[in-house]
Amino acid sequence: MSHEEERKLLDEARQGEVLEMPNNESTDKKVKKVYLESYGCQMNFADSEIVASILAKDGYITTKNIDESDVVFLNTCAIRDNAEQKIRNRLRDFQKIKKRNPGMIVGMLGCMAERLKHNVLEEEKSVDLVVGPDAYRDLPNLIKEVEGGHKSVNVLLSREETYADINPVRLDSNGVSAFISIMRGCDNMCSFCVVPFTRGRERSRDPHSIIKEAQELVNNGYKEVTLLGQNVDSYKWTEEDSEEKVNFSQLLKIVAAIDSSLRVRFSTSHPKDMTDDVLYAMAEHHNICDYIHLPVQSGSSRLLDLMNRGYTREWYQERIDSIRRIIPGCGISTDIITGFCSESDEDHQETLEVMRYSGYDFAYMFKYSERPNTAAAKKLTDDVPEAVKQKRLEDVIKMQHDLSFESNKIDLGKTFEVLIEGTSKRSAEKLYGRSSQSKVVVFPKGDHQKGDYVHVKITDCTSGTLIGEVVHPSTPRLQSTKK
Ligand code: SF4
Repeated sequence: MSHEEERKLLDEARQGEVLEMPNNESTDKKVKKVYLESYGCQMNFADSEIVASILAKDGYITTKNIDESDVVFLNTCAIRDNAEQKIRNRLRDFQKIKKRNPGMIVGMLGCMAERLKHNVLEEEKSVDLVVGPDAYRDLPNLIKEVEGGHKSVNVLLSREETYADINPVRLDSNGVSAFISIMRGCDNMCSFCVVPFTRGRERSRDPHSIIKEAQELVNNGYKEVTLLGQNVDSYKWTEEDSEEKVNFSQLLKIVAAIDSSLRVRFSTSHPKDMTDDVLYAMAEHHNICDYIHLPVQSGSSRLLDLMNRGYTREWYQERIDSIRRIIPGCGISTDIITGFCSESDEDHQETLEVMRYSGYDFAYMFKYSERPNTAAAKKLTDDVPEAVKQKRLEDVIKMQHDLSFESNKIDLGKTFEVLIEGTSKRSAEKLYGRSSQSKVVVFPKGDHQKGDYVHVKITDCTSGTLIGEVVHPSTPRLQSTKK
């Protein structure tokens, strides 16, 4: 991208056009209420905010009281079988609630809706509406169809839809940090994963709309944004009139330039696509947080090949080396699957070795759950006994507990800049926030409050939390975002 193009985008960012949050009080029509329950990944929570905005334009306000709602939406996850079981159980509750609120409309949104499509209506009698992740604009029409007595479905996937023009309604927000989805879908086709089938092909969102959304969050007092995508490293946008291209490292820098007091995070990275450019962009900008979520899934190159992950153990470890070299002290987390098809004890040992090598601060760890219609379900056998999957999961959880504790012990005596997110769940006298490395830090509240930056000296820790004292409130942020 030429300097001129970057200048144009940066100037736009700095101008910061202010957009009004949709007014939820519709004057002429009865205020209709929607109750939203979200499950699964951050993308789904961000999508629920898109849904709330689309319905706000149709006179709906969101409510947390299910009994007063006209419409109830479950935004579902299909990543593992137990995620879907959880939804089916929840629908049992809705059946009872629906009995005492006859007119209530129940809708299933998200990945389970997309995976099961019309079958949901046969299998779940309490459901009136089934809508996939790319069809939320159609919600007002579909609700009217149900009000007209017809159960309705729209599970069309799109190659264009990014909801770029939709201004999310922030739900359950702490007013400090917010998600911004920068792309939708995934082209990677990992053999165990349903996402490419439930969220469709990859498409990146217009960077202008991303900047507008981030600027509006800054104008509304937010201090942190997390840029979301199934694989943010493959973000790429081509300007229509100029063929200029914007890739992920450039987008990161542009968003970071909006305001030096805005922290920028992102998720999820992919080891095969993550470039050093992204790492240098992080190293150069103090407000791009020093934290990367880099799913490894397995430490065995043989299994990584069966998973169609597109990298080997050696490639992955080289990525970890680059992170450690370019951003010393960077926080790293990962995803791990135990018991994938044909996983041997040796493969499992290799996973434990890569965990030790990478020194993760945190990990999401699961047993392999075969998903229908995935390449693994079609071509491989889910042959690792449940008890072995469970034992290996326990090994991985134990390893991660030790790694997290080790990593936190290294931080004893150090001072970190912390963005305060709220009051500690354990004590009203304590506040919590996260360091740039995404570690949770708890400290006495003093006269500090949510949204403040403070410097905290670490005096104690557990495997999950750093504990400390505020040594001084943060000096006003430097104008420049450069480190
Ligand atoms: S990168 Fe792989 S695991 Fe992640 S969403 Fe895409 S297909 Fe699924």
